[in-house]
Parts: sequence; C-alpha cells; structure tokens
Amino acid sequence: MKLLRYGAPEKEKPGVALPNGKRIDISEFVADVNGALLGNLDRLAIWVDANQNSAPAISLNERLGPPITGVSKLIGVGLNYAQHATEAGMTLPTEPLIFFKSTTAITGPYDNVIIPKGAMKVDWEVELAFVIGKKAQYVSREQAMDFVAGYLIHNDISEREYQFERAGQWVKGKSCDTFAPLGPYLVTKDEIGDPHRLNLWLKVNGELVQNSNTADLVFSIPEIVANISQYMTLLPGDIISTGTPFGVGFGLQPPRYLKAGDVMELGVDGLGMQRQLLVSAVH
Ligand code: ZN
Repeated sequence: MKLLRYGAPEKEKPGVALPNGKRIDISEFVADVNGALLGNLDRLAIWVDANQNSAPAISLNERLGPPITGVSKLIGVGLNYAQHATEAGMTLPTEPLIFFKSTTAITGPYDNVIIPKGAMKVDWEVELAFVIGKKAQYVSREQAMDFVAGYLIHNDISEREYQFERAGQWVKGKSCDTFAPLGPYLVTKDEIGDPHRLNLWLKVNGELVQNSNTADLVFSIPEIVANISQYMTLLPGDIISTGTPFGVGFGLQPPRYLKAGDVMELGVDGLGMQRQLLVSAVH
C-alpha cells in the first residue's frame, strides 16, 4: 500500500494511493497516518479492498503532506555510502554514525524549502528512509526486518556551515524548518522487494547531480536497526534515513550551494518523486 496525507499543513487527512493511481480518503477507517496505524495495516488493506469504490476520491491537485505524523524520532545515518564519505573528506565509520534531526523540520514532498536567515551553505541529500512498525529494543540483525513497516523518500537537507563549522553536533545543520521533506508516500514493506537494490537520484535545476543505488550502502537496514536499538528504544512511526550517496554540493570543487529560485527533484525506485523550490526566509 501507498499511504499518504493530504490537505493544508497541519490539517492533513489520511489517504491511500491505489495501484491505478486513484487516491482515496481513509478517514472513515482511521483519523490519521501514524505509528499506531502501522500495527493495523492488515485490517486497513481489507478495508481498502472493500471500500475503494465508495470512499471519497482525493483530487490529484490536493497538496500532499508528509505521509506520516506523530513521529517521535527522525534519525539520520551519516557517511553510509563509501564514495560519499570520500567526497566529504572523511573516513568510513566502523559502526553506523547516527544523528538526530528535529521533527519540526518535517515537511511535505512538494513544499517550498526555506533557506534560513543568513544561511549560505544549504545542500541536498537524496535518501532512502524507513519507518519502524513496532517497538524495537535490542533487536538482532536476523529479526530486524520484522520491525520495519515501510519506506519513504527523505531529502536530508543540510546547512553545511551549521553542520560543520558551529560548535557541537550535526543536528544544528539538519534541523531547520522544511529541511526534511518526506514522501510523497509511505510505501509498505510488501511493495518493495529488496530495499538494498533501489536506484536513487537527485537533480538541481534539471541537472542530474546524484545517481546511485542502495546496493552501495555500507550498513544495511538490518544492521542499522540492530545497532540503533542497542542505544535507544525505537517506537512505531520513528523514521531512520539511511544516508546519501555521492554527489552533494559540499563535495564539489568548488562547493555548490542552493539559492532562492533553485529547484530540486529527486526519486527512489518504487517510492515516487519529490520536487522542491528554494525560497528565502521571510522575517
Ligand atoms: Zn544525510
């Protein structure tokens, strides 16, 4: 299934995109797409089968919001593609390098991305992200995929000065408002055969700048779940982003950063596409 949320920001309603492209409202089944729903996907599938012709259709013109809400944690994995670690001038971590992003950075897949006031080094990062479906603590690699409910695209937008040149942790450069476009869909696990065999790409103003495959991940999804769940409890609806491949602006010579008016387009096999316009912050 492809779960989605639609409507005005913070007033989104839940929906499903059917295989034929039609989108239907599922408000009669559930109030919103959140972690609790991920424990109930079998019943939702039955409901969709029975009600897809009578449920209200969603206009394709409706804004899509982030496809899940109530996210307790948004966790990034850094330097998880070897060629990207090289372009960043860093050595490969020996276990997953993780960082937090603020959940207030989450935004819809086609919403404008705001360049923070005074920011000069805003950069792009197409990523495969996955969503935890049930509470995970001390999970083994062998069991790990049982805790994954589905997948979605995440553009892990980053302000490189805030990330690297200010004191402290990467979180500063990852958490600005609109720095985490998610979606368009939360695609349930059953629809994606092998998540470690997906092409992912990103264009800036029509120019292909990232073009890779999740086969090149250093740490696989089971390894990431097993590792992080040793350090913290993962809850249904938590999102973990698996890292970006080679081709970010920071790695170019000279580096290239985003400015107002630029457009990013990005996609991952089976998960759809995103598109964002860069705009300046208004204060
Ligand atoms: Zn990233």
